[in-house]
Amino acid sequence: MANVVVVGAQWGDEGKGKLVDWLSERADVVCRFQGGHNAGHTLVIDGEVFKLNALPSGVVRGGKLSVIGNGVVLDPWHLVAEIAAIRKQGVEISPETLMIAENTPLILPYHGELDRAREAQASVAKIGTTGRGIGPAYEDKVGRRVIRVADLADPATLELRVDRALVHHNALRAGLGLDAIDKAALIASLNEIAPEILQYAQPVWKVLNEQRRAGKRILFEGAQGALLDIDFGTYPFVTSSNVIAGQAATGTGIGPGAIDFVLGIVKAYTTRVGEGPFPTELFDDDGQRLGERGREFGTVTGRQRRCGWFDAVLVRQTCLTSGVNGIALTKLDVLDGFETLKICTGYELDGAVLDYLPTAADQQARVRPVYETLEGWNQSTEGARSWAELPAEAIKYVRRVEELIGCPVALLSTSPEREDTILVTDPFAD
Ligand code: GDP
Repeated sequence: MANVVVVGAQWGDEGKGKLVDWLSERADVVCRFQGGHNAGHTLVIDGEVFKLNALPSGVVRGGKLSVIGNGVVLDPWHLVAEIAAIRKQGVEISPETLMIAENTPLILPYHGELDRAREAQASVAKIGTTGRGIGPAYEDKVGRRVIRVADLADPATLELRVDRALVHHNALRAGLGLDAIDKAALIASLNEIAPEILQYAQPVWKVLNEQRRAGKRILFEGAQGALLDIDFGTYPFVTSSNVIAGQAATGTGIGPGAIDFVLGIVKAYTTRVGEGPFPTELFDDDGQRLGERGREFGTVTGRQRRCGWFDAVLVRQTCLTSGVNGIALTKLDVLDGFETLKICTGYELDGAVLDYLPTAADQQARVRPVYETLEGWNQSTEGARSWAELPAEAIKYVRRVEELIGCPVALLSTSPEREDTILVTDPFAD
């Protein structure tokens, strides 16, 4: 029996989709534990494309239990539409195969409106949110005014919760020039959607602990990346939840001791979407080339990603904050054909060399990467399924990455195809 947490170890888009799919085939239970429907996973199974935002990757495979944990914020209308779309593709979804934690906070329409209204305020530095109301829903959770799944079951409680939320939101909306919320219409639409959501509602913490005792393999599927973590990321250019592996415990109600393996997903170079510090960012032909070869455009937003060399300082840091046991190194093939490759080993700041990213924003903006240059390779690594198929320089690159981040490679991905993976350590192995 083994339980595995998958986390992105950079700024997201590390290629979690492929690895999560690969692992979810081996799991009995697949859980989401943070984030919202801003996660964009595209799964290709037997040539068919499935697009998932809020649903765990396990849903498209039969015989698995899919779980949405309390650490997630859930847009009930989006979820119902996502379920309908997946069902149309022939996937069966029922209360036997999908469970939503009763204590999951809901994203309501006013959260998205607030998100977009704030982002439109020219005077405030943009955070680069997806505008789906995820941040404002987390704010309401902490502010103790969010509506949770369980509240949908009782009209009196629901009205009480809505009243409490509206006091806050209507004041805020007045300041932003938005109309007050129509309480009756909101309650009516919540009552309408309630049965659709409540059929999946369960005390997830209890079910997961039972599953664990029964020897089931549980996969905790992270979204985004550790450098976007609300506490340990490049604040304020971060997401609104904890992303690091510890969140798998608090975001589902399983104890931290139940986690046997943390797999960090790491891209062989670095990308970032939106604003915020990025020490190894490239503005030259090399950066352009990484973006083109790596097809670095967002799946949800379509935004072009910023690209740069591999930053070992950052990944060393995220491996520690998430307690990563092994990494899956992805998109090595994107580096094919570069004459030389650079890896950032430290940061220069005010005459000193740092081995970590400082917290202060002005320092994060001022650090200069210290690079080590490695020889590139001409041969293609695309589709390699064994070390023997890799050129010596590519193996050297991977070994150096391992050394610098202080963490071994468990899996190596060499193309978008799930079989094009070199397995070193099976995270689910006992
Ligand atoms: P996520 O946001 O971390 O889930 O990242 P995605 O799953 O969206 O992955 C980003 C893109 O990288 C997808 O289009 C994948 O098909 C692609 N991808 C994943 N692994 C590899 C790889 O090893 N090589 C290449 N060339 N593409 C990959």
